[in-house]
Amino acid sequence: MAIQEFEAEVISKKYLTKDVIELSFSIPETFDFQAGQFIMLRLFYENVYKFKSYSILNSPSQKGKLDLCIKIIDGGFASEAFKLLNIGEYLTMRGPFGQFTFKDTEKEAWFIGVGTGVTPFYSMLKEYLPKSQKNFRLIFGVRKKEDLFYHEEFQALEKNFSHFSYCPTLSQETWEGYSGRVQKHLGEDLQNKDFYICGLKEMVLETQEYLLKRGVAPERIHFERYS
Ligand SMILES: Cc1cc2nc3c(=O)[nH]c(=O)nc-3n(C[C@H](O)[C@H](O)[C@H](O)COP(=O)(O)OP(=O)(O)OC[C@H]3O[C@@H](n4cnc5c(N)ncnc54)[C@H](O)[C@@H]3O)c2cc1C
Repeated sequence: MAIQEFEAEVISKKYLTKDVIELSFSIPETFDFQAGQFIMLRLFYENVYKFKSYSILNSPSQKGKLDLCIKIIDGGFASEAFKLLNIGEYLTMRGPFGQFTFKDTEKEAWFIGVGTGVTPFYSMLKEYLPKSQKNFRLIFGVRKKEDLFYHEEFQALEKNFSHFSYCPTLSQETWEGYSGRVQKHLGEDLQNKDFYICGLKEMVLETQEYLLKRGVAPERIHFERYS
């Protein structure tokens, strides 16, 4: 897919949790991408411009609009720029980029995302759940219940698609659901599965190592690192 650059208008900005925002942009209808890919945004803060990368949240079938899901880290360059961003402003957007896309093999697809690392999986599930009959599982890790977002959306997908199961897990709190780190919920049988991992470096490396040690072939492990 050819890389495009255009001005994207902010059409909505909302807080999903105390430190995760969802941003929606109006973009050209001609912009095309694959679920799992990312764009780069040109951000301005304290007289400096920088390009930063963000996974695309929505499915490629939705044209003319692009959604992002962003963790706000106090003091971070992009995060401070996002705090000041208003509806109606325009940002330069470039993309699509990346190879972290869905591989439609005969194996089950297991998605492992921590924090905003769940973003590319939202896009993949929206795009491929209706098209594929194989089993999909999402393991979504956050610290506390208050940090969960798109929880109802994932629950609704689980209800509507019998080949999808959803495992939200809290690492720093116990509740009525799953708890502990994402690796705890990978199960015993690791064969016949493709694994997709997304999030910060340590989690991605730890999960990769866990899977490799248990005999999963490297070509079955796909990952995107946010740091
Ligand atoms: C391919 C790619 C796709 C990405 N997609 C997303 C996305 O969809 N949503 C998103 O929130 N971020 C995403 N990121 C991270 C994003 O590009 C920025 O690094 C992030 O917004 C922090 O930028 P900053 O300038 O505010 O903070 P910085 O000053 O650059 O970083 C501050 C600290 O925050 C940590 N950090 C970076 N990203 C995260 C995160 N997501 N959660 C918790 N801590 C983080 C860094 O390790 C660093 O220690 C992606 C990165 C890459 C490479």
